[in-house]
Amino acid sequence: MLGLSQGSYGNPMTDVSANGHGVPERRIVNIIFHGVGEPSRPLEPDADDLWLTPTAFATILDGVRDRDDVQITFDDGNASDIEVALPALVARDLTAEFFILAGKLDESGYLSRDDVRVLAESGMRIGSHGMFHRPWRGLSEAALREELVDARTEIEQVVGVAIRDAACPFGAYDRRVLHRLRESGYEHVFTTDPGPATSGAWLQPRNTIRRGHDPADVGRVLDGFASGSPEIIRWVKLAVKRWR
Ligand SMILES: [Zn+2]
Repeated sequence: MLGLSQGSYGNPMTDVSANGHGVPERRIVNIIFHGVGEPSRPLEPDADDLWLTPTAFATILDGVRDRDDVQITFDDGNASDIEVALPALVARDLTAEFFILAGKLDESGYLSRDDVRVLAESGMRIGSHGMFHRPWRGLSEAALREELVDARTEIEQVVGVAIRDAACPFGAYDRRVLHRLRESGYEHVFTTDPGPATSGAWLQPRNTIRRGHDPADVGRVLDGFASGSPEIIRWVKLAVKRWR
């Protein structure tokens, strides 16, 4: 014995044994939706394929509704979150976490402040996607503070409860961004790195669902991630290629 418990060698991203608080951790899969239906605002370049048809969206929800190892998230605070996603989730007794943009609230095509309150009152979780939807990597300290701290304060004033989770815009982060997120007290940080996640872990990889995905492929990829079988490596590579 060298004074190290066996757990010290574990990879925190894949260790599904325990989190140090006696709460068993388990392998989960996070998925991200963006918009559903026809966007009611001009989209950023290359964002078209982040918008699903209502049929594809419903099919994927039906595929995951009985799975407690899939966590559903939405990024960007699009108006379709309340118009399409909320009723579809409620109809299936599902919950999701919505990462919204503080600086876009009440703008055309985005959620209003009232919408965000309705989401929260409907049992949905609210997280921060920052202020202005710009990559957090490379920002000045003042701008990064605006994204991590001021945006959270603004969202907290809307929903009236503490905001504990953040999702990095465009999946862009580096050591400095993660350090500032830690300092700011976020309990979970969601990325767009594909692959499985560990429930309760601070850093949460997520898998972006795109318009071109066959809903059945999505189910198979989730199965591969969730099972933790040797297939997982192949699935990760496939997903990286296909979901880029
Ligand atoms: Zn985004």
